[in-house]
Amino acid sequence: MRIVLLGAPGSGKGTQAALLVERLGLPHISTGALLRDAIKRGTRLGLAVKEITEKGELVPDDVMSDLVKERLGRDDAADGFILDGYPRTLEQAKVLDAILEELARPVEVAILIDVDADQIIKRIELRAEEEGRSDDTVDVLRNRMRVYQEKTAPVADYYADRGLLTRVLGSGTRDDVLERILSVLQVDAAN
Ligand code: AMP
Repeated sequence: MRIVLLGAPGSGKGTQAALLVERLGLPHISTGALLRDAIKRGTRLGLAVKEITEKGELVPDDVMSDLVKERLGRDDAADGFILDGYPRTLEQAKVLDAILEELARPVEVAILIDVDADQIIKRIELRAEEEGRSDDTVDVLRNRMRVYQEKTAPVADYYADRGLLTRVLGSGTRDDVLERILSVLQVDAAN
């Protein structure tokens, strides 16, 4: 299964991706994790993107294309993947289609975890409080939310236009949400 997981910051997308990986045994391709790893290792890419990610802005599309192309071309992605955090712009969605077309592995399903914007802001603030984050960090999270609405929300329409999008309600427990996603994927939740 080749799955694109979409959702705003705080939608629970990362949590669901991890649960799905466990359940489906597919590689989890998180562009955020790839970037964090590059930053930690101090590679040229890491140095180039550090400041951008710290501000909650988007890394330029061409930088992301190279990263994603390399990752999707690896053997472990041949039988499917869960793509988390990419595409984040319409341009990235088009590039992804081109990459996957070349590999003859098109996206099969895009799932959007739908959470009300007010609810997300509340979750972000609660998380900030719980984790003792500085106001600075809360501002970054708010910025990520703005960037999401402006740049990433249209990606959902891109997949909807191609008949590939299913919206899943992000409310309830993480198991509730997982069950909804598994039912979209026609995987028996009891297994
Ligand atoms: P994430 O863990 O997916 O929330 O990503 C963390 C940060 O990495 C984002 O706030 C962006 O700065 C950057 N990033 C991750 N994926 C992308 C992408 N597809 N396009 C641009 N920037 C990205």
